[in-house]
Amino acid sequence: MDRRNFVSAGAVSAAGTVAAVGTVLSGCAAPGGGMGTGTGMGSGMTVIDVPRTVIPVAGSHEVFPVRRIYCIGRNYAAHAREMGSDPTREPPFFFQKPTDAIQYVAEGTVADHPYPPLTKNYHYEAELVAVLGKGGRDVPVERALDLVWGYTLGLDMTRRDLQRAMGDEKKPWEIGKSFDHSAPIGAVQRVGKTGHFTQGAIWLKVNGVTKQSADLKQMIWSVAEQISRLSAAFELMPGDIIYSGTPENVGPVVRGDVIEMHIDGLPNLSVRIV
Ligand code: MN
Repeated sequence: MDRRNFVSAGAVSAAGTVAAVGTVLSGCAAPGGGMGTGTGMGSGMTVIDVPRTVIPVAGSHEVFPVRRIYCIGRNYAAHAREMGSDPTREPPFFFQKPTDAIQYVAEGTVADHPYPPLTKNYHYEAELVAVLGKGGRDVPVERALDLVWGYTLGLDMTRRDLQRAMGDEKKPWEIGKSFDHSAPIGAVQRVGKTGHFTQGAIWLKVNGVTKQSADLKQMIWSVAEQISRLSAAFELMPGDIIYSGTPENVGPVVRGDVIEMHIDGLPNLSVRIV
């Protein structure tokens, strides 16, 4: 199977859990199944089942397979300032979360989100997420939106104390950003239904109190610019998704708190910290 082809699959696990399906690869993993075209992929029988991560597509029984999760850092000027950097001088930078950090949150539900280990300062970051149905490298900004299959909204959950400690020591952020369940996300909405997101309200409330409130047009780097820049550093593939950065006023949550986030044109997403 060509990894650039969009893969669709049939089953979805229960709402509020990681949307991982263990059976959908079975048709591809048998000898001669054609998985041998990608780098590092053999053609033999799979010896253990490893669930693959998918996100339901809104209003359908289809699911969107997630290949990589890219995240952009400091993409709103006021947030860049609150993190201690100068938004006027900084080129965009990116990090990744592991694919299975996805926690799917169904529309109209409040998913239990586990407070992670090791942190005493656990932060929310509300973000627009672009999902890619096509790949490419060195994609010009003018063509970048052609890669977008749809959009959703998500939380870039962050162990801020660990992120800061690692940054202070000039070590990788990994432990602060790329841990289990760190990417709550809503169902994928087809771009044909939503259009592209260049403006509109984005907000986040904790226990009904507004914490973050901004407009998508305040992004320093647009979704098209993010795709273009990313594609210069990595070959993008179908199934890649991009968390597009958070506005200012990130802050902590504790067990029992309920987070609700909103982007104009998308269903709200809610989790309870447990
Ligand atoms: Mn973020």
